[in-house]
Amino acid sequence: MEVVLTQEEVNNYMSLLNQSQREFIEENIKQKKKSKWLEVLAKSKGIMINATMSLEEIESKIADWILIDVKDGGYMKRPFKCDCGARLRYQYILKNSKTKETRKLGVNCLEKHISLSPQIIKDVKKGIYHIDLERDEILTKFYHRDFYTRKIPKGFEVPDLFAKQLALELPLTDLQIHKLDRLLDEYESKRRYEKRMEMERLKRKKAIESLNEEQSAYFQQLNESDKTELVQLLIKEGQTEQEELDEIDVIKDDEILKHIELELPLLQRQKQVIDSAKRSQLIKYATEELTLESILERHLETLQAVRHKQEQIPRGLRKDWVTIQELVRSLKNGEDFNYARFKLLLSNLIIPLRIKKDKFL
Ligand SMILES: [Zn+2]
Repeated sequence: MEVVLTQEEVNNYMSLLNQSQREFIEENIKQKKKSKWLEVLAKSKGIMINATMSLEEIESKIADWILIDVKDGGYMKRPFKCDCGARLRYQYILKNSKTKETRKLGVNCLEKHISLSPQIIKDVKKGIYHIDLERDEILTKFYHRDFYTRKIPKGFEVPDLFAKQLALELPLTDLQIHKLDRLLDEYESKRRYEKRMEMERLKRKKAIESLNEEQSAYFQQLNESDKTELVQLLIKEGQTEQEELDEIDVIKDDEILKHIELELPLLQRQKQVIDSAKRSQLIKYATEELTLESILERHLETLQAVRHKQEQIPRGLRKDWVTIQELVRSLKNGEDFNYARFKLLLSNLIIPLRIKKDKFL
């Protein structure tokens, strides 16, 4: 928002402020002009300044003419005098930090009297113009009751200058709003993060507390990374189903067996061991030659269960049961055996009999 006010408007708007508001704006503007002057001078002399340096520190480094104040006599008015006698609207009051000499000059005499280059003077004027714009923006916003409304959370430290301005019920400039918004965003996202971390911590604590004595003793002797993983699994356990571990007979890993015995969720690496055991089992089954022995090894329990309930086989499926038995017989006689058909018929048959599928079906 860029507003340029005439001196009359500035005066009018200023008169709407109470005394502390007016003093704040005047003092703030003066300080800013002074530091702008120092900034330009320091730059021209190749002196590095940073945000942590006080004005006094910078002044002592520069050892030259320092701007004390810029007086503005008002639009169409020339109440001030230059050291050369000319009448002025703007009067620059300068002090030499070495000789302590003071000068009151118009902008045209700056160059002549204190040997500053035209470029420096141009930069100073430009900087000062921008500072006046800031003042004008605050005044215009004040006139339009355009205040900063975002809620400031407890615990957030408002930067000094903004805090003063807000406490005095003065508006912020767009640039200030942008900066404050960014600081608040950072603060709030940090707070959200901390809250999330705290919730995570509580969940972990709860998960550990939910272990029984035996589980807890086992947990305590795990290394840190296993502990972390296990706790994460315990937190998530509500959503994951306990894995079917029919293949457990092929797993000889003591640690996995311990986890299963204690009914603790399996760690990633343990799952990998089980998966690879499952895979090699499957490969073994797929490549194994089918014999009566291997078929019985796989399906004997299911076949026995069907036999046990054969009176309950629905009429329409009785033929299939006969076929299944014929298929087994043909295998026994060394004839061709249609395993796919055998499995299909058996799978269909066990549904009405409420027999659990074996893992090979
Ligand atoms: Zn002059």
